Amino acid sequence: MDFKIAVLPGDGIGPEVTTEAVKILDAIADRYNHSFQTTHGLVGGIAIDSTGTALPEKTLEIAQESDAILFGAVGGPKWDDPRASVRPEDGILSIRKRLGLFANLRPVQVHPDLTDASPLKPNILNEVDFVVVRELTGGLYFGSPKTRWSTPEGRFGVDTMAYSELEIERVLRLGFELAALRKMKLTSVDKANVLETSRLWREIAIELAKDYPNVELQHMLVDTAAMELVRAPSQFDVIVTENTFGDILTDEAAVLAGSMGMLPSASLAGVIGSKALGLYEPIHGTAPTIAGKSLANPIAAILSAALLLRYSLGLHKEANAIEQAVASALSAGHRSPDIAKQGEVPLTTGQMGDCIVGLLE
Ligand code: NAD
Repeated sequence: MDFKIAVLPGDGIGPEVTTEAVKILDAIADRYNHSFQTTHGLVGGIAIDSTGTALPEKTLEIAQESDAILFGAVGGPKWDDPRASVRPEDGILSIRKRLGLFANLRPVQVHPDLTDASPLKPNILNEVDFVVVRELTGGLYFGSPKTRWSTPEGRFGVDTMAYSELEIERVLRLGFELAALRKMKLTSVDKANVLETSRLWREIAIELAKDYPNVELQHMLVDTAAMELVRAPSQFDVIVTENTFGDILTDEAAVLAGSMGMLPSASLAGVIGSKALGLYEPIHGTAPTIAGKSLANPIAAILSAALLLRYSLGLHKEANAIEQAVASALSAGHRSPDIAKQGEVPLTTGQMGDCIVGLLE
């Protein structure tokens, strides 16, 4: 089958890891007789340098005309001036908003041979396999008013956490549907003891649960969830939560897998199974200190390509083949520097990509 994929590598290690993800997609195209037509676009700091904006209209057009978007990462010290009127991060925030990518899925699995790469005890990491679904286009990051002002009594600042029923319902529904495809357990994380938006969130979760009688719904306060994620993470199947809580909890969850370089993500504009447009990116940033040195782990980007095949293109067999090849590479002891033990000779970014391609069934 023929598909169009927008490739937006961005800054820092973004281009290095995205190259490896495209390499895997090319190998899948060859082996499974598909055609992936890739079109590259500028985003982030590199786009600011050449066009003055972090998300040029041309890039948005490429994305809108594609079946899916493969994204690297944006940002870096070069563009960090807090007085700058445009920042690389505007690129990712605007593309999510403009394309209606309302749900961010972050699967967290710990490969059995990598438990010693995490600072947590190996027995805590046994059988960790869950997905965090984070609301992505509402809440505190987008609510208005969002401003600062000065008064004779000092400076003030305000951010607004606002959610509509529609915004809450669609992401909760996605959470229920994903849980129904997995182990039938949905943990809805909120702060209903304090926040009005959380009380609305919990009310809607209870209403929706009637449509999914086989899914066990559990409510958990976000402070408890933060603790449980490191105390007993294997209890979770699907976690669904609002934007800010999800941002914090997913970085905490990244510690379980041993490195930021291991975890992929999918940002979706429709429910599971709809093959809607999605943006797929590693959860890590541009890692400026290792950029350009072939030290980056490409696994998060490669696993993001697997999610792209599964959720936007409906190619489940091919997605499973990539995930299996990554697991085989890790089982065979292949390591990038971030997950290598002392004394082990790590692979470069490109060698790790080649090794995973070589293990594709
Ligand atoms: P980061 O994820 O770039 O790096 C955190 C740590 O993880 C660093 O030690 C880094 O070397 C390591 N790391 C990250 N990815 C790795 C990989 N693939 N292989 C090996 N090691 C890896 O986060 P940061 O340092 O807080 O941010 C750096 C820049 O990235 C900032 O400009 C930030 O704004 C940006 N950022 C962008 C995104 C995005 O584009 N979605 C997300 C997070 C951060």
